[in-house]
Amino acid sequence: MTGDVYRVRTPAKLNIRLKVIGKRPDGYHEVVTLMVPVSISDTLEFRLTGREGELTLTCEGYGVPEDETNLVLLAARQFLSETGLRAGISITLKKKIPVAAGMGGGSSDAAATLTALNELFSRPLAAEGLYRLARGLGADVPFFLYNRPCLARGIGEILEPLESWPAFWYVIVKPPIQVATSWAYGSLKLRLTGDEYGYIKRFLGGKQFSLKQVLENDLEEVTAARYPIIEKIKGHLSLEGAEGALMTGSGPGVFGIFRRREKAARACDKLREKRWGEVFLTTDWQP
Ligand code: ATP
Repeated sequence: MTGDVYRVRTPAKLNIRLKVIGKRPDGYHEVVTLMVPVSISDTLEFRLTGREGELTLTCEGYGVPEDETNLVLLAARQFLSETGLRAGISITLKKKIPVAAGMGGGSSDAAATLTALNELFSRPLAAEGLYRLARGLGADVPFFLYNRPCLARGIGEILEPLESWPAFWYVIVKPPIQVATSWAYGSLKLRLTGDEYGYIKRFLGGKQFSLKQVLENDLEEVTAARYPIIEKIKGHLSLEGAEGALMTGSGPGVFGIFRRREKAARACDKLREKRWGEVFLTTDWQP
């Protein structure tokens, strides 16, 4: 199939709730988080070059490194080493997910690379093999093997797909600042938490669905203390009729949740007028 292009799209994520419940001896933070994939997506193209051992990456769209620090190349290398395959592959990454925004773009690309290469080479790895590689690449990578709303625990790698999640429209504002996830976790003052997992399970199993009871992100106070624009954006999203607004991941991306597309689109226009950053209108991920 040398010359043919194998193309996949892979989504961004939003953290609807993110509670940090402890710190492990290895330095990683333990979380309970509810994540949903949304339709802002990167595209990856894979071509077999016929030149054994060759692996190259070209990036378009938002600027990300094209060297070995890109999670796409890391994922491809690990896939090849795990399977013992020696094929030559050239990869193009078309980046539309804002970078270092708390939207999981790099993790999403890494998971998509693993899944795509596994398909391209007729599934040399079973689901457990893919999961193990994904977990080694980063805490959020396994989520993007599922690409459906999930409750995540551990460092984010223990996943429970949700039985259902309401259809929403999301207005996302990404101010022009980049937040390092390690800085946000490092600056967080850990507090004693109750039974967070029990709380969220009860919420998801309950008959009454109230967004206010679930929208909470422990990292928000860290990022918002340094960048006041976060609170400003949240306030304005609420003013424009969002049922709730929250920062995603370690930020600085902020989203507002709407039930109706028209209302979300109107809020989007208003937010664009503010020139606080890039504004996106999106909904649940549709592959
Ligand atoms: P998370 O919440 O998982 O930390 P994020 O959305 O905040 O993710 P990313 O967009 O994944 O952050 O980027 C974080 C850093 O990773 C960037 O500084 C970037 O240079 C590096 N990186 C490596 N590979 C990629 C990739 N394929 N796409 C985006 N960033 C990448």
